[in-house]
Amino acid sequence: MHVAVLGAGYAGISLARKLERSLPSTVEVTVVDERSDHLVQHLVHRVVSHPSLAEELTIPIADLLGRADHRQSEVLDFDPDTGAVELVDGALDADLLAVSLGAQTAFYDLPGVHEHATPLKRVDHAEEIRADFETVNEHGGRVVVAGAGLSGIQIAGELAAMASDGVEIRLVERLDTVAPAFPEAFQRAVAEELDARGVHVETGRGVESADDEQLVFDDGDSVTYDQLIWTGGITGQDAAGGQRPEVRADLRLGDRAFAVGDAARVVDADGQPAPASAQTAVRQADVAATNLQRLAEHHRDGGGFEPRLERYRYTELGWLVSIGDGAVAQVGGQIVRGQAAKALKTTVGAGYLGSIGAIENASEYVWEKVGADGE
Ligand SMILES: Cc1cc2nc3c(=O)[nH]c(=O)nc-3n(C[C@H](O)[C@H](O)[C@H](O)COP(=O)(O)OP(=O)(O)OC[C@H]3O[C@@H](n4cnc5c(N)ncnc54)[C@H](O)[C@@H]3O)c2cc1C
Repeated sequence: MHVAVLGAGYAGISLARKLERSLPSTVEVTVVDERSDHLVQHLVHRVVSHPSLAEELTIPIADLLGRADHRQSEVLDFDPDTGAVELVDGALDADLLAVSLGAQTAFYDLPGVHEHATPLKRVDHAEEIRADFETVNEHGGRVVVAGAGLSGIQIAGELAAMASDGVEIRLVERLDTVAPAFPEAFQRAVAEELDARGVHVETGRGVESADDEQLVFDDGDSVTYDQLIWTGGITGQDAAGGQRPEVRADLRLGDRAFAVGDAARVVDADGQPAPASAQTAVRQADVAATNLQRLAEHHRDGGGFEPRLERYRYTELGWLVSIGDGAVAQVGGQIVRGQAAKALKTTVGAGYLGSIGAIENASEYVWEKVGADGE
């Protein structure tokens, strides 16, 4: 039997590591990712201000796996009912699949936006943003960040902390509030922190188009920019037809596949949509690992009645964003800011690295943070 995990992000790596332990050694496990390194994506905005962090946040995928193989290749297509996977350099016939390909930035076909804006998903995006910002910082000007979800808030905060006099950081959002997918108390605290750090926030601003000088809103208004960053949403990978399919709490995508993390829109056991986030991806990986194991046993035993599948239930563990050198956390009903929130952010980042076995990166990350922030 052969299980293939497509994508080695939070969902894929967590899942593969669990499968290595739970599946019998006779079951082959292959992890396919187009990259050689796993990226700790939820901290990638920090690379803009601290470029050397890139080393701690990228870990060779092979180092995180035990008996599972890493096949470095691009997935072009897959069939969730047969397990067939089309790769750029061949094919892979798996008995069972986990689809954990994450998502890509959505530009919604808005004219000029893809062409003129930099998204923020990978280290090379962070490096491009830093290089462009150096020019703006030198001559003065305006940076517009469009989209005030987790990535937009954090990159706006990061740039505000680096900005010299004469540089404006403007964060625009289509909906009525920053962090629209999050609890109200968290939204308020984030808005206050952005304001305190000099980020100019405009909500209720739907983007219609962009050219090389200005961003045009759907009410006809516009704003000129010297640098444009687009964090306006996510959509499925090309290999998934550009879709994030909706899956129910058992994460079942087809007869032979489960979908995990940003790759799918997961509706949990209570009928609630789970937010696209690193923490939900890791928790869904637990459920998918159990279900893959049950389905693998079922196939090995020659079929019959389908096994009972585990169901994912979203539990809010709290939320945490960095805003430049500050941070805002919501833990239970409590909002935490200042040093305590910063310490939490560092602990969560290092905790994740430790949980996937990247102990050296975890300690270097903490050291870098402590050194970089002078605490
Ligand atoms: C700037 C920023 C800040 C964020 N902050 C937070 C935060 O504070 N808290 C939080 O919880 N979340 C945060 N997030 C969101 C979080 O990073 C994502 O929800 C998380 O990465 C999803 O994990 P995943 O495993 O589903 O996908 P990913 O981590 O994106 O992994 C997908 C993997 O699939 C691979 N892949 C994709 N397509 C192909 C293909 N065709 N062939 C082969 N391989 C492929 C990719 O190389 C990648 O390794 C942030 C995101 C960004 C960009």
